[in-house]
Parts: sequence; structure tokens; C-alpha cells
Amino acid sequence: MPSKNFVLGIFGGGQLGKLLAIAAKRLKIKTYIYTNSIDSPAIYYADDFIIGSYLDKKKLNLFIKKISIITFEFENIPFSILKNLEKNIPIFPKPEILKTLQNRISEKVFLNNIGVKTTEFKKLERNKLKSLDNNFFPILAKTINLGYDGKGQTFFKNKSEIIKYKFPNDQYILEKIVNLTKEISVVIVAYKNKIFAYEPIENLHSEQILRQSISPARINRNINEEAKTIAIRIAKRLNYRGVMCVEYFLKKNGDLLVNEIAPRVHNSGHLTLESYNVSQFESHIRSVCNLQSIQPKKIMNAIMKNALGKNIYKFIERKSYNKEFFYDYGKMHVKEKRKLGHLTKVF
Ligand code: ADP
Ligand code: MG
Repeated sequence: MPSKNFVLGIFGGGQLGKLLAIAAKRLKIKTYIYTNSIDSPAIYYADDFIIGSYLDKKKLNLFIKKISIITFEFENIPFSILKNLEKNIPIFPKPEILKTLQNRISEKVFLNNIGVKTTEFKKLERNKLKSLDNNFFPILAKTINLGYDGKGQTFFKNKSEIIKYKFPNDQYILEKIVNLTKEISVVIVAYKNKIFAYEPIENLHSEQILRQSISPARINRNINEEAKTIAIRIAKRLNYRGVMCVEYFLKKNGDLLVNEIAPRVHNSGHLTLESYNVSQFESHIRSVCNLQSIQPKKIMNAIMKNALGKNIYKFIERKSYNKEFFYDYGKMHVKEKRKLGHLTKVF
């Protein structure tokens, strides 16, 4: 059990941070949020917060003086900053892991090196576009760092389209489009000495944004086992601590490819709040704070729908029904396709 003065520092102040802070409060763990934006719903649920740039050394120093360990709801804090902070304070998951996973290329290289299949990919080399194989298309070009909810992604049907395109200055990965039948994700929680997997969740996207998650995923037993086994293997190889989510593409022939790994709690895992004995948020707090472990057990089936942009008003005005749980994250600004809330229905 952590001491009375124990304070959990959390980087990021969005809905994931808010749900982590709420879970921590239930476990009597104090939280302190560091975020770079005033529009951060998590700050109202934490014991304290600070608003500053993730590069502001003065504020970061103030922050670490008041906390016992650091974790994240937002994984794109620059590695050099984390490496420096780590000299003075434990960070879970480890900055080295974030460094590998922040970059879509090093993430895939790591996975392929441990025998895990990913999509076919290449780094964009602006002067070699003409030598790309026609069979590599259609593709998605994605920024190597910092993408989320499909941001920084451009679709190219064929070679002539990409040759004509003026890429902004960032670095890009080119990924072959997978002819997929389903997308699934597996949330795992890694404690000091054991790792548990939640059941695979089925995810429906449109315009590269998650719209709906369904638990359990409608897949056969073999795929179910394989998805959990791969996720646990990845966590072991990373020597992971905390909650992590592996996103997969399932192909028609049964091949399971890893799309990407989120080194944090995940949107698809929101439905664990109502449909499991222990939510992904509580699991994360328990593991990084070294509390007693709990094996996740599914107690209900569930469907979660994201409320994006102005759509949130429809959710707010809607009558609520039995066995439905609506979350309004309380963000200040309604922007197109921004994740503003979600609704989970259990059955
Ligand atoms: P983000 O970091 O924005 O979540 P992802 O790489 O997970 O980026 O892409 C978002 C979504 O876009 C995926 O869940 C999937 O629906 C679609 N997508 C991304 N890459 C591919 C691909 N190579 N083939 C088919 N669909 C893809
Ligand atoms: Mg994704």
C-alpha cells in the first residue's frame, strides 16, 4: 500500500486523465495533473493540477517535487524530457518504451523483430517516389510521430497521386492499406509479476476515427486466444507496467496484424467501466501504484458509442434508458469530430 503522502502525477488532462483521476480517488490515491491546455476536463477531478508546456523545465520541476511517481494519459511527451525527469522520479510505463512506441516506424520494427506481424510499410523518401512498386498501393501516408484519430493521415490510390502530392515538412510512414474484415483491440494490465488480458473488443471506425466498440468481439476462439497471447507477449518483451492496448487488423484469411500499440488506457476500453469487475482505469492505477492486483473478469456484454463534435447534443437530449451509461467529458470547446463523450450500453 502506498504511504499517506503518496501522490500520483499524470501527464495529460483529457477524458482518459479524468477517468484515471476518478478511479484513483476511489482507491484513495491523490492525483496531480500536468497538462498543456486549460480545456482539460481532468483538472476538476484531480487533487491538484498545473498548466504548462511539456517543455517548461521550471514547471516540470515544480510538478515532480509534489508527486511520488509519474504516469500518462497522453504518450507524446518528448523523450528527452522524460529521460531527464526519470533521473529523479519513477515513471510507469518506462520512457524507453514510449520512445519505441511514439514513432510508428520504430514501433513496427520492434514488433517485426519479436516475430509479430504488422502492415507492410516504408519510410517516405521524397526523392524515391517514382521507384515505389505499383503493387504497394493503395496506401495511407501517416506522420511518423504524434498522430491520433486519423490526424496526419493521407490516402493515395496509386503512384501518380503520391508523386503529385506536396507533403508538408514532417516525416511520414507509408502503409499499405489492409483489406481487413474486422478491427479488434486487446487491453492488458501488467503488474510487477503478472499480466492479465481483457477480452478482445471489436472496433468500428469511420474516417479513421473510432465510432463504436463491442465487447466481446465477434471472432472465433482461436483468434480470441491469439490476440490475447500476442498482446501479453508484447507487454512481456517491453517489460511493461500499467495498462496498454494493442490494436489489430483481422484479415479475411485469419491473419492478425498489429496496427499500433497505445502505451496507456484506450478509448475502446471505456466499456470496461461497466462490463468488468475492474475497469481499465482502476487496473492502471493499481498496477502503477503497486496496489493489490485484480484479475479482470467480464460480467456483462457491452457496446460503447463515441459522441463526436456536435453529435454530443443528440446524446445529451436523448432520454436515458436502463443499462445505459452516458459520459459527457465536459470539454469547453465543441470541435468537429472531437471526442466529447461516450455512451455505454450493457446487456
Ligand atoms: P491513429 O493513431 O489515428 O489511431 P491508426 O494507424 O490507428 O491511427 O489509424 C486509424 C484507423 O485508420 C485505423 O483504426 C483503421 O481503421 C484505419 N487504418 C489505418 N491504417 C490502415 C491500413 N494500413 N489499412 C487499413 N486501414 C487502416
Ligand atoms: Mg489507432
